[in-house]
Amino acid sequence: MNKSREPYLLTPGPLTTSLTTKQAMLRDWGSWDSDFNDLTSDICQRLLQAAHAEDHCVCVPLQGSGTYAVEATLATLIPRAGKALVLMNGAYGQRMAKILHYLGRPCVTLDMGDYLPPPPNRVDEILAGDSAITHVAVVHCETSSGILNPVEEIAEVVARRGRRLLIDAMSAFGALPCDARGLPCDAVVASANKCFEGVPGFGFALIRREVLERCAGNAHSLSLDLYDQWTYMARTGQWRFTPPTHVVAAFAQALTEHEAEGGVAGRLARYTANRDLLVAGMRAMGFHTLLADRWLSPIIVTFHSPSDSRFDFSTFYRLIKDQGFIIYPGKLTAVESFRIGCIGQLFAEQMRGVLAAVRTALDAMGIADGAPRPEDLNPVEF
Ligand SMILES: *Cc1c(COP(=O)(O)O)cnc(C)c1O
Repeated sequence: MNKSREPYLLTPGPLTTSLTTKQAMLRDWGSWDSDFNDLTSDICQRLLQAAHAEDHCVCVPLQGSGTYAVEATLATLIPRAGKALVLMNGAYGQRMAKILHYLGRPCVTLDMGDYLPPPPNRVDEILAGDSAITHVAVVHCETSSGILNPVEEIAEVVARRGRRLLIDAMSAFGALPCDARGLPCDAVVASANKCFEGVPGFGFALIRREVLERCAGNAHSLSLDLYDQWTYMARTGQWRFTPPTHVVAAFAQALTEHEAEGGVAGRLARYTANRDLLVAGMRAMGFHTLLADRWLSPIIVTFHSPSDSRFDFSTFYRLIKDQGFIIYPGKLTAVESFRIGCIGQLFAEQMRGVLAAVRTALDAMGIADGAPRPEDLNPVEF
């Protein structure tokens, strides 16, 4: 039993942060003060650098969770006369379609179900057949299954068809390479509490400057208007409304730790090692991943639930939590599953720890191995 510390979060954000990131919150900041304004401009600059986007993009932070930033980006960048194609293969793609519905923007979807990637040639066909579509929205890592969508190929198709691309890179940016110089897209959206390992409280969008300059008046909502947030911040150095000051201070520290780890490449290496340890250890206990290896992200991995009738997720969850690890329920519609994250302040020691906890939980439930029902396995290798 590991009750000596708070549990490790093997979840896709909020996630386990470093002690030094938490300690950076032990100071109060005046939101109008130049010290805080400098902090804001510093984190924005460093985020642009992480995407090699400082020449042609601006970074606009927004209070709230990641969804607020996604909604603000869709509302600000898609004109009222625009039409969107949303590529969906899980909850976060579905959420973008729902947002567009609320916004009253015409929207069509390519729905691949729970876990299939959107094929770039299908996207091409849809764009060829519908000239009214102005924007395509895609999720980079669809956190509900953990699938890594082929955004580079999709970006290439969208650019060739002369349409604009918006990427929800919430659970990818900071760990998966995102080089704005070679990726034709108008916006990349993410938040503080995912791969940069900050605490929750704001999101941000990296937006092509020449695109945002033309977005005045698009947004339906004052608080979600990124054009207004950007121009106000450019003019005054301040956020328009009360900023999450402590969260921004923690994020600056988290960025320093990200850079010290070797930036995106360093973080990707650690998360990949975490995933490889996790997947190998789970497979050794008979578990199956939902996805074939080529689609597995180093962010979060979905496992089929064991077929054994004694398996019960809430008991499994509690037994693992008792040993100091928080895992995540599944988010699939068709098959029983659960998820284990690889991101946050987690290292080989924690991944071995969660594997041991899973083994102990299975033993306590009287389950020999994690083999799923054969009929739940993907019928086609994709
Ligand atoms: C976490 C996440 C979001 C934002 O979720 P919030 O709960 O609003 O922070 C959006 N898209 C993806 C892909 C995510 O992983």
